[in-house]
Amino acid sequence: MKKAVFPGSFDPITLGHIDIIERALPLFDEIIIAIGTNAAKQYMFPLEKRIEFIESLFKDNQKIEVKTYQGMTAEFCKKENAGFIIRGLRNTTDFNYEQAIAQTNYQLSGVDSVSIFTSPKYANISSSIVRDVMRNGGDYSMLVSSVVKK
Ligand code: ADP
Repeated sequence: MKKAVFPGSFDPITLGHIDIIERALPLFDEIIIAIGTNAAKQYMFPLEKRIEFIESLFKDNQKIEVKTYQGMTAEFCKKENAGFIIRGLRNTTDFNYEQAIAQTNYQLSGVDSVSIFTSPKYANISSSIVRDVMRNGGDYSMLVSSVVKK
């Protein structure tokens, strides 16, 4: 049974995240979308909303579960018996950042990372850009799914 964790803040979930999740689905039997919570971090969307968006997007998919966690992602994976971490890569900045984290996670706990390159049409999307566009009253309809648009 191949179980993976897709960790992130998902503040909010974007079309880029959804693309990575859909493309990871054929690789695993189960994917936990894990919303990391950090008391020191300010979020635009409350945790309940972030969970609600993801649950409503994937409610018909038996392979996907939504959970929250605090602390180290590798520890969460061990607790959940997940052998893999899914990450999305948009550019070399993501790559450089993710490489060291993936190597450390493997060293610490034997949890391996599977990185999927973003589809070019979503390479510009990040949750922080979505939040900026929302705060400034711009059109974010091409950045998030209809669940978040509502
Ligand atoms: P974090 O706070 O861990 O960066 P995010 O919610 O911003 O959490 O992102 C979670 C994961 O989704 C990360 O691996 C990130 O690189 C990936 N990701 C975010 N946006 C995109 C996108 N547009 N295309 C592909 N992957 C993405």
